[in-house]
Amino acid sequence: MVEQSLWIPAWVALGSNQNDPLQQLSAAMLALDDLPDTRVQLCSAFYRSAPMGPVAQPDFINAVAGLLTRLSPQVLLAHLQALEVSAGRRRDQEQKWGPRPLDLDILTYGMQRIDEPGLRVPHPGIHERNFVLLPLLDVAPDLEIPDLGPVHCLAAAVTTEGLERLD
Ligand code: ADP
Ligand code: MG
Repeated sequence: MVEQSLWIPAWVALGSNQNDPLQQLSAAMLALDDLPDTRVQLCSAFYRSAPMGPVAQPDFINAVAGLLTRLSPQVLLAHLQALEVSAGRRRDQEQKWGPRPLDLDILTYGMQRIDEPGLRVPHPGIHERNFVLLPLLDVAPDLEIPDLGPVHCLAAAVTTEGLERLD
């Protein structure tokens, strides 16, 4: 495994709307903490969100996790995709915007900007996704998203429509 000497703060978005989503997210938080050279430092509350796009499907459960990791972004993504597969995800069989047992996206990786095939960081959907910004607002309001600004400013620009914080 490629390993860096520095621990980098990285944020990951978690989502699930199949096969017991609450349990999927709880298990995924533990699995993230179990990744090599990676520690979960902060977990947001869980949120229920109405699905995006045209496909009729169950609500999602969403959350964010703040990591410290020595994995490169590419290796971190490979681990996230392996966790998605372990949760039963079959990318080849799913529709765009369709249901999935687990979706793990890298939101930020330090202050790095990455634009390569298969990996864009900051994640291009951040600024328009209330189910990412409001969980981030709970645990990291001052987090600076490269090129976009602090989370609290971005969160002020989205509504809470379709989103419910779970206790
Ligand atoms: P989405 O998360 O947009 O619903 P997928 O999980 O199927 O869709 O991801 C589609 C592709 O997005 C993946 O093959 C992955 O390589 C790519 N991708 C690009 N940037 C990122 C990122 N920051 N985090 C996770 N996946 C990413
Ligand atoms: Mg994804």
